[in-house]
Amino acid sequence: MKALQVIKDDQGTHAVLATLPCPEPGAGEVRIRTMFSSVNYKDALAATGAGKIMKNLPLVGGVDVAGVIDASHDARFAPGDAVLVTGYGLGVEVDGGFAEFVRVPADWVVPLPSGPEATLTAYQAMALGTAGFTAALAVMRMEQMGLTPASGPVLVTGASGGVGSLAVDMLAGRGYEVIAVSGKPEQAETLRQLGAREVLDRHTLQLGTRPLEKAQWAGAVDTVGGELLAGLTRHMAYRGVIAACGLAGGTDLHTTVMPFILRGVSLLGIDSVACPMPERRQVWHRLATDLRPRHLETGIARRISLDDLSALFPRFLAGTVTGRTVVAV
Ligand code: NDP
Repeated sequence: MKALQVIKDDQGTHAVLATLPCPEPGAGEVRIRTMFSSVNYKDALAATGAGKIMKNLPLVGGVDVAGVIDASHDARFAPGDAVLVTGYGLGVEVDGGFAEFVRVPADWVVPLPSGPEATLTAYQAMALGTAGFTAALAVMRMEQMGLTPASGPVLVTGASGGVGSLAVDMLAGRGYEVIAVSGKPEQAETLRQLGAREVLDRHTLQLGTRPLEKAQWAGAVDTVGGELLAGLTRHMAYRGVIAACGLAGGTDLHTTVMPFILRGVSLLGIDSVACPMPERRQVWHRLATDLRPRHLETGIARRISLDDLSALFPRFLAGTVTGRTVVAV
């Protein structure tokens, strides 16, 4: 089978197209015939070696996959079933979705939502992928904390990226007043079309230095981390909620306890990788129904082939990619 494998040689860590044996599923495992995968920031970290993501090399990359069960050694799945996998150890511990066939434990597999009210195609599932799952989980967790459109404006950082653009679309679709923060002024119009009421330039954004600054935002989906996340904590409104999803801008967090103890601000950690299966299935159901982004196929996702994939990774690390990239396998 054809696969994009990450290897380490005298040129360092990089991805190469390879022809590999088709994997045989063992007890409790299934083999998926891949239709689509997708590209996430984490894939770029893994494929370039910029982040120590993969547990061992060589390994096929790709933390997402959608396709059809091809062989099953688990009673829950039969050949022909349409399924998806995101996170767990896919593309990190075991060979991932950038391949024609993928072998995974059946415990990781989610049936593609199907039925009169909730349907996702394999393409739509991968246009969402880990990014869409993360954005939906962030919205769900913030709403569990009491956030509603009446609470006030919600900020989204890294707004032109995968998680960011899907979060903007989802929140606007639910009636929230969305303020997008982006480092790409040329994307402002696109973000407005996705539903952002206002687009702030990340490079000129002034978030102050005092422990508490002007209270402005009821919620925030943060994909950037670092100084930007620290700045958000200072500006959250009373009982504001921040969903911390990412680290595109850094992993450090220098803030004070003041927003938490004087304004009752909550900092929610969002993890898509190990999310338990019952909640995982619920998130996918929501993605197929009330959280379905309105511009998934018309403004956010684009398609590339496995052959063109490795050239894209450096652009993710440089922060120049926008929206979502679906890999047609
Ligand atoms: P993308 O590369 O698609 O988007 C990241 C965006 O962040 C960029 O488009 C850019 O948006 C902004 N950005 C990039 N570099 C910087 C920088 N140096 N400083 C500040 N902002 C920057 O990535 P994804 O959407 O796939 O992922 C976003 C983040 O979320 C990543 O850190 C990823 O690891 C994390 N993530 C976490 C998950 C979880 O389970 N917690 C799951 C999925 C992703 P703009 O130019 O518009 O500002």
